[in-house]
Amino acid sequence: MTAPAIDLIGVDGDDTLWHNEAYFRLSEARFAELLSPWADTDTLTERLLATERSNLDHYGYGAKAFVLSMVETALDVTDRRVSGAVVGELLALGKQILAQPVELLDGVNATLPVLAEIAPLVLITKGDLIHQDAKVAGSGLGDHFSGVEIVSEKDVDTYRRVLAQYGVAPARFVMVGNSVRSDVLPVLELGGAAVHVPIEHGWVHEHADLPAGARCCEAEGFRDVPRCVRDVAAR
Ligand SMILES: [Mg+2]
Repeated sequence: MTAPAIDLIGVDGDDTLWHNEAYFRLSEARFAELLSPWADTDTLTERLLATERSNLDHYGYGAKAFVLSMVETALDVTDRRVSGAVVGELLALGKQILAQPVELLDGVNATLPVLAEIAPLVLITKGDLIHQDAKVAGSGLGDHFSGVEIVSEKDVDTYRRVLAQYGVAPARFVMVGNSVRSDVLPVLELGGAAVHVPIEHGWVHEHADLPAGARCCEAEGFRDVPRCVRDVAAR
């Protein structure tokens, strides 16, 4: 069997290597609880998502952006009557997310060395720079990676730039991640391959359908990623 025609494997951080979304969902539940005198949970969740989306261009991704969007939504739904105490609690929720110790997902520790034997690994993650740096350090996984790229958005241009930087042709690149929107679709569009590692309760903003027949494989958990990488590399 010939070696897989892969020169570089990109790996996403949040909800691929370590837990992330669950902390945001917990904060969102508390946000809905705090604002429950003003609106029902569904309305609050919808309004918050709309605010987050409209703020993406200003704040990017991450906990700080999330807090600003929670405060803005709280002001909007209460017609500016939300109390300082509630705003204080929303700010504290953000700090709680930032202070969470890094908790690796199942199989990550055992599987990353196996993956690194196939091709060099680069961590490609988006979000707040300081928080992502802290998570990479806190994960203890840094040694497995040839590089770490913290980006503000994961679109075709971002992947093109990163691959150029590493001198890798898109066709010889595989991206591994939980988000179809950020980790799979732009890489396929660029001519690369992708491994999707789904999580149970993803952020609605990241949802998208997997394209049929593309150079894409759906892994059953992180332990299944090396099989998937070899599978798409052979196509
Ligand atoms: Mg992710």
